[in-house]
Amino acid sequence: MLAMVAEKKGEPLVARERATPVPAKGEVLVRVLACGVCRTDLHVVDGDLKIEHPVVPGHEIVGEVVGLGEGVERFGKGDLAGIPWLARVCGSCRYCLSGRENLCPYAQFTGWQRDGGYAEFAVADARFAFPLPSGSDPAETAPLLCAGLIGFRAWRMAGEVSRLGIYGFGAAGHIVAQLAGSSGQQVFAFTRPGDGRGQAFARAQGVAWSGGSDEGPPEPLDAAILFAPVGALVPTALRAVAPGGTVVCAGIHMSDVPSFPYALLWGERTVRSVANLTRTDGEAFLALAPRVPVRCQVTRFPLEEANRALTQLRSGGVEGAAVLVPGGR
Ligand SMILES: [Zn+2]
Ligand SMILES: [Zn+2]
Repeated sequence: MLAMVAEKKGEPLVARERATPVPAKGEVLVRVLACGVCRTDLHVVDGDLKIEHPVVPGHEIVGEVVGLGEGVERFGKGDLAGIPWLARVCGSCRYCLSGRENLCPYAQFTGWQRDGGYAEFAVADARFAFPLPSGSDPAETAPLLCAGLIGFRAWRMAGEVSRLGIYGFGAAGHIVAQLAGSSGQQVFAFTRPGDGRGQAFARAQGVAWSGGSDEGPPEPLDAAILFAPVGALVPTALRAVAPGGTVVCAGIHMSDVPSFPYALLWGERTVRSVANLTRTDGEAFLALAPRVPVRCQVTRFPLEEANRALTQLRSGGVEGAAVLVPGGR
């Protein structure tokens, strides 16, 4: 099979011919129909997340089940499966035992410690894959598996607020804006300064206001979610939220947060991060998404053009979500 492989830190992915993986006990083998391109993949390629050995990135996988390891009953051949970032946990640590498997110190992640979906086939622990309704459009469903899931977790951490700021309006931002809008929240979208196209895209998604991250919102926010991996936005967002407000950092990696005056945190403002997902988050979000309904705007790239997709994501040139489609389907 064709796989796009991260081999050396900071270098483009390399196209490799690899043996199709064989599902071990408890695993499913899927033919990848679509795999979303996430900012975390850039952190893997750049070495912000250390890789111990060559790895196939990609953790927003929609695939058709074509092989079953011993003991798998959750899936049958021909089923549609979604494979997310959380690939495996220990099941016995204090986090796993208290409903916080997203914090398991022994967790493994798809497309980082385990090969992911930038390939024609992938295997996954069946207990961590989500059954998807047949008939789902693979490319439009793929971004739900990380941008959607982790966006949803971040959105819930922001609380039940009236005015929600979103810094970085990409794949996750445009999904969260739909969740927020359907709950009657007003969304204020912040893009890179001067990104008129991104601001117009946000307005087309129904946000109340959009502007550059160098601008203040027209009224104080109750909470803000940072999807942009820019630490300097933490004090910026604190400045934009009213007393009692929360700033949620949703990315796995961020540049350093500069020091800021205590007055920005004073007034019971909170800064917190959101890490990974639990399977319960996945089930809740995948049940909610069709009711909203969440519609992902996607730009499709052939699998072979994964590097072009990553470059475009880095430069902010993707509206909505980039998705790799093996075989150019
Ligand atoms: Zn654990
Ligand atoms: Zn992701």
